[in-house]
Formats: sequence, C-alpha cells, structure tokens
Amino acid sequence: MLNKERLLTPGPTELAPQVKAALGRDMIHHRKDPFREIMHRIQPELGRLFGTKQPVLPLACSGTGAMQAAVSNLFRSGDRVLVAKAGKFGQRWEDIARTQGLEVDTLDYPWGEAVPAGDIADRLRQRPDIAGVLLQASETSTGVLHPVEEISRITRDSDALLVVDGISAVGISPCPMDRWGIDCLLTGSQKGLMLPPGLALISLSQRAWERAEQAGTDCYYFNLVQERDKVRDGQTLFTTPVNLVFGLEAALEIFRETGHEQVQRKQWALTRMARTGVRAMGLTPFVPEHYTWGLTSLLLPEGVDGKALLDRIAAEYAVYMAGGQEHLKGRLVRIGHMGYLDWSDLLAGLWALREVLSREVETAAEPDFLEQALQAYSAAWREPLPADGKETEETNRAGEAL
Ligand SMILES: *Cc1c(COP(=O)(O)O)cnc(C)c1O
Repeated sequence: MLNKERLLTPGPTELAPQVKAALGRDMIHHRKDPFREIMHRIQPELGRLFGTKQPVLPLACSGTGAMQAAVSNLFRSGDRVLVAKAGKFGQRWEDIARTQGLEVDTLDYPWGEAVPAGDIADRLRQRPDIAGVLLQASETSTGVLHPVEEISRITRDSDALLVVDGISAVGISPCPMDRWGIDCLLTGSQKGLMLPPGLALISLSQRAWERAEQAGTDCYYFNLVQERDKVRDGQTLFTTPVNLVFGLEAALEIFRETGHEQVQRKQWALTRMARTGVRAMGLTPFVPEHYTWGLTSLLLPEGVDGKALLDRIAAEYAVYMAGGQEHLKGRLVRIGHMGYLDWSDLLAGLWALREVLSREVETAAEPDFLEQALQAYSAAWREPLPADGKETEETNRAGEAL
C-alpha cells in the first residue's frame, strides 16, 4: 500500500507513536511492585480525565463490559431504571438492563435527536421509584451530544443515579463527573484515549458506591467493590492487560503535557472543520445542533450506496470512515475525528469523500470547500469553547478519595 492509511472511524482510532512504543515494552508481572507503581502513578491523571476525586477502575473488557458492570453493580433485578435513548448505543443500555432482569422504562427519540432533559424530570416525578437514569453522553451511532449537565441537575435532587456511557465523550468533550454530579461514568480505550481496544474505565460517585455496597452483585467477573479495593493496592481483581496499561500511561502523559482542556479544544476545532467542510461540499450534517466533538455524521444524497462509496474511498485513498447503523445503513457517513488525528488527516478525508462522491452525484460543492474547512478549524481555536470544560481545583486533587 503506497498511501498512508488513515482511520477516520469513531473507534478504533489511530494510535499515538508514544502509545505504540509503550505497548511494545517487555512484559512485567501484574502482581509485582513495578506494575503497582504504574497503577498508582496513573490514578491522579485518570481522575483529571474523568473530573473526579473518586478512583477510576480499569477493567479488562471493551466499553460494553463497563456498561454491563455498571448495571450489574448498581441495581438489583426488579429495580426500575429509565433508559433515555435515541440511537444504537442507547438501545444497548436497554438490552443490558433487561438481560439483568431490571424493570426498564424508556424515553425513545428518533435517531439524530438529543434527549430533552425536561422529559426525564417529568418521568422521575411520575415514577419516584426509578433507581437510575441511563444514557450516553455522546451517541456515536448518530453523532448527538445529550445534555448530561442539564440532566444531572435533575438526578442530583432525586434518588435516581445518573449512569453515563461516556465512551465517545471522555477525553473528547467536557464531561466532568464530580462537578456535574454524574454517579457513574465509563469509557473504553479505543476512542478518545488513542489506545487499542480491550480496556475500559469506570468510576462511581460516593452515593453510587454506597448503592453498590448495599446492592451487592451477582456478577462474578465485574465486582466493582472488590475491584476498587484492589485498585487501592495498585492491583486489579484478575490478570490485567498489562500492555494496555503501559499504553494508557503513555496516552495520559499526552493529556497531561497538552492539558485536558486543550485536547478538547482540538476536538472542537476538528468538529467545526468537518461540519464546515461537509456543508461547503453541498451535503447536510445529520445532526443540526447538539452534535458531538468526536465524529461528524452526514446524510448521503438519495440513491448513493453508502457502503460502496466507503469501500471505494478506502481502496483509492486508504481513508477509512464509518457508515450508518441499523436503519441508517448505507445512508449515513460517519467521519470519526477522535483520538490521534489532526487537521491534515481530516483534510484528506474530506477530499477523498468529495472526489469519490462527485463521480456519482452532483452536489452543490463550492470549489474552495477545503479552504473553508481549514478556515473554520483555525477560527475555532480562537473562539471560546461552547461548554466550559475548565479543569478545577477539585479535579486537580483527583484520586484523593482513594
Ligand atoms: C463504541 C461505543 C460503545 C461500544 O463500545 P465497545 O468497546 O464496542 O464495547 C458503546 N457506547 C458508545 C457511546 C460507543 O461509542
């Protein structure tokens, strides 16, 4: 392959060179001190990543494993939870909760819409026995950002725990767990963290820990209370994916050096760049507002076969983008711009998309669409971030509650 391959997919993402180098280090034993030291070293930076003073637990599984861990540790079969969903990953919360024997209420919105916080408030008023509200921070199947901060103001004053799948938000857009009052935040390694798949991270608030301690769990593998006790000792319950933890330390060093807010700013700038480029190409971003910072989805013109289009872009330009899922299969293109990517990778993606698409349909593309995209990128660095993602004193003391 002569071309540089570019993963513009919403996970797995490209790996930073520092991460790749770390992954290849010689194996060490996960029960010995050198590994304990790494586990202790990464805890404060993990706390900054999550915006919490609570311990952040690594789990050996994909992101969905952490979703499973949340459900089976915070709730008991028969408990009622509310799942607010508007996409494939929202549906996954419902499926996991039902499999676990929970009573599941749902608020169901069309794909592409954000969950209105007011509806959650209404439902919690009607059903005060709801023990938890489950949703995504960023719904990756559509590219929507749900209003987690607003929702957290509602759940904070109720008995319902707010459980947030932050798999395509943590390390990408603001989602400060303690400041917003999120009770459970989780993510996976292969999205914003620039790592290979296989490691998940999860953290619980004080009241969620109390709930977990009371509830007990019937899940042998994911026992978060025992896992937390291990993490206090720089350990994990079972054999840790040691290389992924090496990689995690290297990735966190990038976040530390760059500053967490600066990483988010880059994500914001890439989002502005992608959306401007898509519009100037004569296409329509799928999500008009409340869009995530890690990917940009667009609706293809009628009659274009999305799968064939993406295959051709991959074959000719070595750029890999994602298509739509479920009923949007073949209709949507999802351009991932999370992880170790920059403006030049995105530029390549926009060009490849336009080139291959223009053979199939006439779109009202402006000749300087790439220039416009780059201008939007530069301008975004000078604008204030839309939600304040500032690190606080609080989160700088992360890991203290350990
Ligand atoms: C990718 C993703 C998942 C699934 O994660 P896996 O690592 O594939 O288990 C779940 N939720 C969201 C929001 C995601 O982006």
